[in-house]
Amino acid sequence: MKVSLEFLYHFCCDRCKSWWSRADIEPQIDEKVYCPNCGHVNIIEGIQTFRNAAKYTCTQRIPDY
Ligand SMILES: [Zn+2]
Repeated sequence: MKVSLEFLYHFCCDRCKSWWSRADIEPQIDEKVYCPNCGHVNIIEGIQTFRNAAKYTCTQRIPDY
């Protein structure tokens, strides 16, 4: 049996605070990401991991999309 790892990135809109996920495609710094809820163009500033974002992540509530 082979086992593969999936990376799941959570995006949290700066304007409306909705959040959604994207699998495996690594976000890039300064990448533009459109919010599926309000259409705001978010700019990726950095990627937090389980090491530095265990608290205060947007995943403390159910996803909006
Ligand atoms: Zn939004």
